[in-house]
Order: sequence, then C-alpha cells, then structure tokens
Amino acid sequence: MYETMGMAIIDRQTATLALAHALSAAERGLPVFPLSATKLPALRSPHHDEDPPVQCRGACGLPGHGVHDATTDPAAIRALFAAAPRATGYGIACGRAPHRLIGIDLDIDTTHGNDSVAALQHLALQHLFTIPATVTVLTPSGGRHLWLTGPSGVPVPNSASRLAPGIDVRGAGGYLVGPGSVTTHGRYRLAPGTAHLTPAPCPRALLRLLTPPPRPHRSSGRAAPARQGEGLVQFVRAAHEGQRNTRLFWAACRAYEHGFGDDLADALTDAALSTGLTEQEARAAIASAARLTAPRRTP
Ligand SMILES: [Zn+2]
Repeated sequence: MYETMGMAIIDRQTATLALAHALSAAERGLPVFPLSATKLPALRSPHHDEDPPVQCRGACGLPGHGVHDATTDPAAIRALFAAAPRATGYGIACGRAPHRLIGIDLDIDTTHGNDSVAALQHLALQHLFTIPATVTVLTPSGGRHLWLTGPSGVPVPNSASRLAPGIDVRGAGGYLVGPGSVTTHGRYRLAPGTAHLTPAPCPRALLRLLTPPPRPHRSSGRAAPARQGEGLVQFVRAAHEGQRNTRLFWAACRAYEHGFGDDLADALTDAALSTGLTEQEARAAIASAARLTAPRRTP
C-alpha cells in the first residue's frame, strides 16, 4: 500500500512507525535522525536563512544539522521526530562508535547492464576476501545495502563507484536509509534471514580497498602508477558488451584521479577498441572522465 502512495499523503501511522523503527535501531547502538520521503534530512537547518552561510555541525545546539543530529538517546530521538512531523523514515549515521558502520550500497542498474553484486564478488575473488553474512537492507529500486563495521581509528570515506561501477560506499559523515523507512519510491526492508544478524566486521582486504592509499613515497618514482594503470587497462579489456562504456569511463576517472589519466589514455582507448567500442566512443568517454575529475577552478 505504501509503495503506491503519493508524496502528499503522509499519514500519522507512517510517522509513528518511522519513529518506532528509529528507536529500535538506536537500541542496537546505531545513531539515527529523521528523514523525509525524499531520503533527505526531515528537519530544516536552523541556519537556512543566514547570510553568509554558516558551517555549523550542530555546535549551536539546535536540531536541523542532518547526519550531525544523529543520536542513540531515545529522548533526543523523540524530540527530533516531534519537530519533524513529516518524517517517513530515518537515517543511520555511518562511521560512528560503537559499530562504525560502513554501508556497501549495491545498485542494480539493468539498463546499463551493471551487475554490482557480481562486481563485488569479482573484487572478493581478486583480493582474496569473503563477503560475510551480515545485515542486509533491500532498497525499493531492487538494490541492497550491506552493513559492515570498521575498526576504530580507520575512517572510511564516502565514495561513489570508486570500488567498482555501481558500488557506493557510505562511511564517515554519510548515512544509510534505515530499514522500515518509507520513501516516495517505496519501503526499505531487511533482507529475509538477516534481521537476527549483527553487522559483520569488514574484511581486512576490503577495508584496504575502502581507505585512501597512503601518499606515495617520493623515491618510488613512477612504478606504482604504471602498475595501477595496467590493472585499469585489464579491467576495460575484460568488459562484456553492455559494460564497455561504464567500465571505460570508470577506469578513466580513476586514472585521472591518480594523476596519470593523460598517460594512460592511449592504452585505455586500445583496450576499449578490443571490446568493440569505436575510437570516437572511447575518446569521448575518456574526455568526459577528464572533465569530471578535473579540479574545480575558482573563477
Ligand atoms: Zn547550528
């Protein structure tokens, strides 16, 4: 019934259920805050009309700071929801003690032939880790969120498609839509058979992939980028039809982010040609990767 409801109808029961789910997540040690049906923080910033804009992360003591509002204190959670009567769900802050939650967001994109579940399994084989049984949330669009926990002192950054196409990571400063939340696209729910689990520790090899590499040592010269670039070229060469463009674009983005995009452009183009893309298509994808990853220039 909720799956088909319009945005206009937000009944009391939905709000009450959202609060109940949020309280139960908090009981398990997960810091929560209210979300609207668009998955955005339900409370408006108390600084929304201040000029110039304020960079406040809640130090002012007022609610309305998004993920910075998240708390495990039941009285504070009730107060947040009381101030946000239109909340239909709740967010869970990632990266915070005690669990230091890491969300692996596996998108299902059938139109682009992206199979992020297969991509994660491929990474697991390649880097010799197993994906542990853990709490899994099914999203209304057919995707899934795997909940993992991180060790203390190792902040995991948020990233989009850095691990592989279609895999986003929610870490420090990010949040996950909690199970039981209702959005305009439908309800988030726990995957059958995972509700009784506790979030499993993130495998070490996966954690290494999720944390930024240490700054390269000056004496290491150009050896490391060349090796890394070779992996990207292989990744493009192994693409099936339907993944060719996304893989090429993804690989080119990584190469430009690491500062050797221009050096690798020809090798990436050759690899793309071997999968059946035309040179024009390949060059266009690489050029747009270069544009997207270029450091923002201030006018
Ligand atoms: Zn503030």
